[in-house]
Amino acid sequence: MTPHETLLDSYARLTVRTGLNIQKGQQLLITAPLDAVPLVRRITDHAYRAGASLVTTFYADDNATLSRFAHAPDEAFDTAPGWLFNGMAEAFRSGAARLAIAGEDPALLAGQDPNKLARANKARSKAYRPALELITGFFINWCVIAAATPAWAKSVFPGLPEHEAIDRLWRAIFACTKADQPDPVAAWEKHNTELARRTGFLNQQRYRALRYSGPGVDLMLGLADDHIWKGGGGKSLNGVFCNVNIPTEEVFTAPHKDRVDGTLRSTKPLSYQGSLIDGIRVRFAGGRIVEMSAEKGEDAFRNLINTDEGAARLGEVALVPHSSPISASGIIFNNTLFDENAASHVAVGQSYTENIRDGSNRTQDELTAMGANTSLVHVDWMVGSGELDIDGILQDGSAQALMRQGEWAI
Ligand code: ZN
Ligand code: ZN
Repeated sequence: MTPHETLLDSYARLTVRTGLNIQKGQQLLITAPLDAVPLVRRITDHAYRAGASLVTTFYADDNATLSRFAHAPDEAFDTAPGWLFNGMAEAFRSGAARLAIAGEDPALLAGQDPNKLARANKARSKAYRPALELITGFFINWCVIAAATPAWAKSVFPGLPEHEAIDRLWRAIFACTKADQPDPVAAWEKHNTELARRTGFLNQQRYRALRYSGPGVDLMLGLADDHIWKGGGGKSLNGVFCNVNIPTEEVFTAPHKDRVDGTLRSTKPLSYQGSLIDGIRVRFAGGRIVEMSAEKGEDAFRNLINTDEGAARLGEVALVPHSSPISASGIIFNNTLFDENAASHVAVGQSYTENIRDGSNRTQDELTAMGANTSLVHVDWMVGSGELDIDGILQDGSAQALMRQGEWAI
């Protein structure tokens, strides 16, 4: 094996063992970009060696997506493969694990008709709902990782020749995911212990809200009643301990969908369904985004928050120190899996049931009353920087310094 193949294999093994923790007899469903074939084959190998009964991969082809926008009739953009997503949901219900491999071109659909784009995204989100519910409800062990593809690598390193850009992106991925360490599985156990200590502290505080201040930021972010901070590995409802994101540096919980007020702005670009969105500024009132602008991709962001009522409200708040290894790499990845782990962030849309105490045993009405948000979408965007201060507001109203200039103050 070449050094790259050795690392790729180590990454594949880490994904199967630590990311998914595939169980004997379990099926695995993979979605991946075409350029990820060498990685998918190694993951498939490791999954079968770990006892998987059947591995099924669905490949996405960016060129096919572009063909659709170039040649499909206008009415086609309200169509989504519901049959496929229903099938995936059915597979998850019968116990299959899910692996998503990111690596798409971050600006694939830049310049396409915003109306077609909005309709296509909405149709897709709607059709995907049954599968998304099982994922956000943590019914199964699942994981998201990434593969360096030519289009993505070129967007991250525009000045480099393609092969060098791909090589640099792979090296960054291996470093951020710890796949280049002598024993990546052990390194992740240690990492999880550290994140668990952090969530343990936050869960003891029972904050009522978080207060953000920094340049262009003055926000009171209420937390859901009986919220729970999560971070690192966790046990899905099927009883399997897995790590849903590799890498992950965040600790996160559920905001209260009606109790967010003030201004907030993004600090890194966000790639959403083929559009690059940057320089977001929003004002919240009563939990809802009531004013918004973006320096880049404003239409895409407006369409996103107009998807449904919940898309203009928050479903996740996550804290990541500014000195996280991903941030320290100095690379802006134009990919949420990496960028969200380089900076504190929020997500508009659906909240995670696991972020509410005893969430999976509560009805939707109960969850909503506690402040949990519902939406067809869940999209993270980065708000952290070395200039952001965050206070935890305790139940008695007093403030506790939580982060100062982007770093933990506790
Ligand atoms: Zn997050
Ligand atoms: Zn998120």
